[in-house]
Amino acid sequence: MKLSLSTLDKLPETVARPSYHRKDLSPGILHIGVGNFHRAHQAVYLDKLFNTGRDLDWAIIGAGVKSFDADRRLLMQDQDWLTTVVELDPHGLSAGINGAMIDFLDVDGETLINKLADPAIRIVSLTITEGGYFVDAAGGFDADHQEIVRDAANPGAPQTVFGLLLAGLQLRHSLGHAPFTILSCDNLPENGQVTRQSIEGLANLISPDLRDWVSENVAFPNSMVDCITPGTSQREIDMVRDTFGIEDASPVVCEPFRQWVMEDNFPLGRPALEQVGVEFVDNVVPYETMKLRILNAGHAAIAYPAALLGHQYVHDAMADPDIASWLVQLMRREVIPVLQPIAGVDFDAYLETCVSRFANPAIGDTIARLCQDGSNRQPKFVFPTITDALAKDTDIEGLTLEVALWCLYCAQPGFVVEDARADRLSTAALASKSDPAAFLSIRDVFGDLAANDRFANAFTRQMGELWTQGPRHVIQRYLRKAN
Ligand code: NAD
Repeated sequence: MKLSLSTLDKLPETVARPSYHRKDLSPGILHIGVGNFHRAHQAVYLDKLFNTGRDLDWAIIGAGVKSFDADRRLLMQDQDWLTTVVELDPHGLSAGINGAMIDFLDVDGETLINKLADPAIRIVSLTITEGGYFVDAAGGFDADHQEIVRDAANPGAPQTVFGLLLAGLQLRHSLGHAPFTILSCDNLPENGQVTRQSIEGLANLISPDLRDWVSENVAFPNSMVDCITPGTSQREIDMVRDTFGIEDASPVVCEPFRQWVMEDNFPLGRPALEQVGVEFVDNVVPYETMKLRILNAGHAAIAYPAALLGHQYVHDAMADPDIASWLVQLMRREVIPVLQPIAGVDFDAYLETCVSRFANPAIGDTIARLCQDGSNRQPKFVFPTITDALAKDTDIEGLTLEVALWCLYCAQPGFVVEDARADRLSTAALASKSDPAAFLSIRDVFGDLAANDRFANAFTRQMGELWTQGPRHVIQRYLRKAN
């Protein structure tokens, strides 16, 4: 059955569908970047809220600036902007039709600017990928990026998201409407701050007065988002048709786990998302730290031993008792003890959810993906915990072993190291066989950490044992050690 509003009633009973009517919805949110993640995450929370009969004036208008979005718009137009969302539950797939998006703007700057000036739009949310924020290598605003230079010179005909937002805010202001809240839902630490930096950075190039006005009047709440959402290929389109009887040109599959933590800073109001599981907090940063150090570092911790032991998929690795126990013991013994507590949050319970998410075979995540980009990920996910543990004089045995396993991985001649520093990593990792300090001497990765004797000595010992005894043996010995 081809998906559309007129066929909703004819879909198989097993498919969940909206209990609200499209005609009762009115717009409140304009979302830029209608990729898969938005449709698996934000749109699902809103759909759940609308199903309770609440806040029907917060429906989503889709928008975008890339050809990707124009293509997606064409695919969704014929199905009245409906999306099939399939949750990859290991106990059985489930499908629901999401009706939270009621329109999708033509991918055209003028159309977008005019809609941004509509007072009904009170929140503009973004999923434009980490690369969409014009952040330079030092974490600042990349004012020299050619797209920014072009928008700064042509503020009346902008093409970047930030140039368009500024033009929309100015038009809105000239019409006497208060500014919308800008809500980034991209996977960046302090994503609200990063968004503010980009928009104020561009505004400053146009006029310092504009920058000051944005700085004083526009809210950028930080938010932490989570829900593994793979891309859609013909395989998923066929699966949705064959399993659920729905012909959807652009379905979404995702894990059943979903988390959204955000700062409650919405001057023009917001939907009551706390009714459907969204957590509103004063400060998102501790939650991001938890995610980086347990979820992301957990992925890093299993990636390299899993690759060294020949596992291809993440769920295969988690079915290996040594790897699953290694993950849990490392987190319990060395990572969780140095995390700043968060009132009402149980880190052990969070770890348990990560373990079951990693073990979900329906997601089909690969070890090769987790092994990528180690020289960028280790300093973000693992080294801060080591630094804290050194400062607090707590155990670093497993943390150092994690780094040593990464080094051993980089030294394997048969592995393709996918990393911007791949050649330097592989050369230094091979040299570590006779001189472990060679790996730590990659200064732009390890920084001052290499100079810490306690860390360097532990690393040297772990490397020696890994080279002579192999990863499984060394991990098993770590597991046998009493707490
Ligand atoms: P996707 O490829 O399905 O969609 C990407 C969207 O970003 C498209 O709408 C595209 O047009 C837009 N985009 C890309 N570059 C842009 C730019 N420079 N300017 C404006 N728009 C741009 O990807 P997705 O799965 O929807 O993921 C998008 C983002 O969501 C991720 O980069 C991440 O920040 C966040 N996220 C994704 C997941 C996941 O598992 N997919 C999980 C958590 C968070």
